[in-house]
Amino acid sequence: MGSNVLYIEDNPDNMMLVKRALESRGYTLLEAPNGLTGVASAEQREVDLILLDINLPDIDGYEVARRIRASGKTALAYVPIIAITANALKGDAEKALSAGCDVYMSKPINIRELWARVEAYVPAPNPKFS
Ligand code: MN
Repeated sequence: MGSNVLYIEDNPDNMMLVKRALESRGYTLLEAPNGLTGVASAEQREVDLILLDINLPDIDGYEVARRIRASGKTALAYVPIIAITANALKGDAEKALSAGCDVYMSKPINIRELWARVEAYVPAPNPKFS
């Protein structure tokens, strides 16, 4: 099993935070700065889990999730998708889940929550480096 995590996020500070947090556990982070690049990366690369920002500059995260689930690449029907958004309203969580996301996390990103949520789907290559 691989440990490639694709993070679709337009905010460079969040990207850097998550990159450091996941690389410290041995994951490989694939970066996509907008929705369309994210969908293309999911189709072209070997991806074991997707972290998905909802507020993106082109298509929003809900649309990204729908396109990923509708892809002709079979693995993308099952790849875990964790939605991450600043819109911590109840309706947003439901919208993310109905768009095809598996779970929902709200910003600001809590690193321990992030590790726990990712590890629930993809075991950490370096679990003891906390
Ligand atoms: Mn954003």
